[in-house]
Amino acid sequence: MTATEESIEGRIDRLHAGGIVDMHFDLPMDLYEKRHRKNLLETEFLPELETGNMGVLGVAIYIEDRYLPEGGLRVALDQIARLHAETRTCQRFAICKSFQEIQKAREEGRIALLITMEGAEPLGTDLNLLRVFSELGVRSIGLTHARSNAAGHGGIFAATGSAREGLTAFGRELVRECERLGVIIDLAHINPAGFDEILSITTKPAIVSHTNVRRYHDIERNISDEQIKMIGERHGVIGINSVLVSAAKEQSTLDRYVDHIEHVADLIGIDCVGIGFDFFEFIYCQWPESRRNELAAKFTTPHFIPELRNHSHAPNLTRRLVERGFSDDQIEKILRDNWLRILKDVL
Ligand SMILES: [Zn+2]
Repeated sequence: MTATEESIEGRIDRLHAGGIVDMHFDLPMDLYEKRHRKNLLETEFLPELETGNMGVLGVAIYIEDRYLPEGGLRVALDQIARLHAETRTCQRFAICKSFQEIQKAREEGRIALLITMEGAEPLGTDLNLLRVFSELGVRSIGLTHARSNAAGHGGIFAATGSAREGLTAFGRELVRECERLGVIIDLAHINPAGFDEILSITTKPAIVSHTNVRRYHDIERNISDEQIKMIGERHGVIGINSVLVSAAKEQSTLDRYVDHIEHVADLIGIDCVGIGFDFFEFIYCQWPESRRNELAAKFTTPHFIPELRNHSHAPNLTRRLVERGFSDDQIEKILRDNWLRILKDVL
C-alpha cells in the first residue's frame, strides 16, 4: 500500500502503535484526594489513556498550598503510596525506575508511569530526602511550581516581575545531587534567573516537561526564544503544554498548539520537541467556583483546547500534525522518540 492509499485514520493508528509519551500529568494528587476510593486508574483513567494510545506518563507529585509546610512530606509519600496501591490493583500500569523497565512495560503492553515531582516542597531543606524519593522511584524534579520555596522561585504568570534571584544555596545543592543520583532536573516553571543558573551548573540534557512559548503567550512561566535555544544547545527536549497556549480563549486552539510545536522545531530542530499535555480539566471540573476564582486571581484562567482536553484526544493532535504537513518521522519524534532518547540517556 502506498502512502496515498493509506487512510489518515490508518496512518494515525500506525504512528500511535509505539505509544505516546506525555511527560506531565497531575495524576498522583487526584489519586490522593480520592484515596477513599479504589481502582481509580482502571475505572477513571484507563479508558481515555487507551483511546489515546498513551505509552509513558510522567506523573507529578504536587503539593497544594493547604498542606504546606507541615503536610508536604506526608502527602507526597501518600501520593506515591496511592500510585503503588493502584498499579497493584490494575496490572495495565507499571511504575518504572529505569529505561529498561519502561521498555519491558511497553513490551508487556503496559502503560509506563515515571514518577516526577513538581516543586521540591516535600524535601523541605533536607537533601537526605532526595535519596529517599529517588529510592521510591522519583526520576525527575522541577524545583518549583509558581511559588517560591527553599530551592528557588517560580516564574510568574505575567510578562515581567518574577523574583530576580536564581536558586538558593539549597537549590544549587539539590541540583548537583540530582545529577549525581540520575534524577532529571525539569526546568518547567522555574523563574528566568533560576533557569540560567540550573543550566550553568548541570551538564546532562536539559528538559522542560510542560511549557509553552512566550511568542504566543508572553508570561515568565513560559519560555523565551533565548531559553528555547539554550535547551537546544544541550540537545534537550521541551514538552508542549495544552493549557497555556494563549492568553485568549478564542486563540486556545489545536492549531495554536501545533504552532507552539512548530516554533520550537524551527528554533532548535524537530529532535527537541515533545509532549507535556498537562491535562488538568478533570481536576479543575471538580473544584467549586471559589477555588477556580482563586486560581484565576493567583495565576491565570486556564483555557482548555476543545479538541485536546484529555488523553483520548491525542489522535486529534496527530491528525492535525498530518494535515499540517509533518512527516511520519517527525510525528514519531514529537509523540514519543525524543522523550525516549532523553529517558534512555539519563535513566
Ligand atoms: Zn505545571
